[in-house]
Amino acid sequence: MKKNLILVLNCGSSSLKFSLIRQDNGETLLTGLAERLLSEQASIKIKYHGQAIEAHLLRPFDHEAAITKLVEVLVTHELNLQIFAIGHRVVHGGENYSRPTLINDVVKKSINDLSKLAPLHNPANLRGITASEAVFLDIPQVAVFDTAFHQTMPEKAFIYGIPYALYKDHGIRRYGFHGTSHYFVVQEAAKKLETPLNESSFISAHLGNGCSVSAIKNGKSVDTSLGFTPLEGVMMGTRSGDIDPGIIFHLINQLGYTAEKVNHLLNKDSGLLGVSGLSNDCREIEEAWLKDNNPRAKLALDVFCYRIAKSIASFSASLTSLDALIFTGGIGENSNLIRQCITEQLSLLNFYISNDKNKSCRFGQAGHINADNSRDILVIPTNEEWVIAEQTSQLLSKKSGKEK
Ligand code: ADP
Repeated sequence: MKKNLILVLNCGSSSLKFSLIRQDNGETLLTGLAERLLSEQASIKIKYHGQAIEAHLLRPFDHEAAITKLVEVLVTHELNLQIFAIGHRVVHGGENYSRPTLINDVVKKSINDLSKLAPLHNPANLRGITASEAVFLDIPQVAVFDTAFHQTMPEKAFIYGIPYALYKDHGIRRYGFHGTSHYFVVQEAAKKLETPLNESSFISAHLGNGCSVSAIKNGKSVDTSLGFTPLEGVMMGTRSGDIDPGIIFHLINQLGYTAEKVNHLLNKDSGLLGVSGLSNDCREIEEAWLKDNNPRAKLALDVFCYRIAKSIASFSASLTSLDALIFTGGIGENSNLIRQCITEQLSLLNFYISNDKNKSCRFGQAGHINADNSRDILVIPTNEEWVIAEQTSQLLSKKSGKEK
């Protein structure tokens, strides 16, 4: 049987997302999401050719149970023997991994060692790798790192204004995340504008639960808003983004917070959720503002959009020209309101939105949303799974080419 499929696994601390993608034409055959793993509410949803398949998780409702269910579905549809490789999303690759990498014991040890830089993500990613190795014996497994794309940032962009020894001795520097998404959307944007990627200049705003803005020159990341951890930069769903670090000392010294409580506050209780007091979900906050005129919902959206607009404007220091501003991610792809609110604050950079085009580019529809007198503004739905599949395939083709 021809082996032509790549399985992409994205293992989070309580979730597992997966996609089965054809290597030859990039078609996605099967997608799935297991959520709230390790709890009684755990669930799994699988779609094959866009149609939902009935599937139930078995105890102990963990990542292994989700992978076992996935394998069962693959076997039922005779897909398991067609799998050529497995690509894993790994959040932190530190400075050692600027490329997709074939997973072996050394790579697994590095991913584990890097857990100190991404304690929520890397252990979960490793768990997915181990669970997948246990069932997909003899199938090559590849790690595609979220940080890799940003390894091209110059030193001036990744060094913090703190003693240099902390970088040299402890790796404290800016790494950036969402690399696969920024990489994907600039490729698509360059195609859309018919500009050679290696002569292009973009600012891309990935706005989902996590949010980041990146400056990308000639197809390479030159700066990005997320830093040492995915907490820096713009405000997000539950993460604060940039704050005065002095607030942390005030919380600890004056208000009696522990370090753990501060960590929780800034990662889980802040952002849209913290300011609105309602939800981390952009749709719910938009509704509370538009339908109920809720002032805290309006404030949360105002702060969110203003901070993103400031971040976009700040990247004009990283580029000498600009082909387009790109919106992507769940919010960037769907919320015409947020896109309008952000771009209204960027008229000095000659960004003006077309209301009609802005309303029509939603729910998977890509396209221009700028007015005629504006610089280009594009909406491009991201596809991180496709990038992981493509990079996995490329790595293994190169390897097999060399071995021939
Ligand atoms: P993740 O970072 O977890 O991958 P997504 O990219 O899926 O997240 O983005 C999730 C966010 O997108 C949520 O805040 C959600 O409210 C928002 N979102 C999705 N659809 C819409 C919509 N139609 N309008 C506004 N926001 C939306």
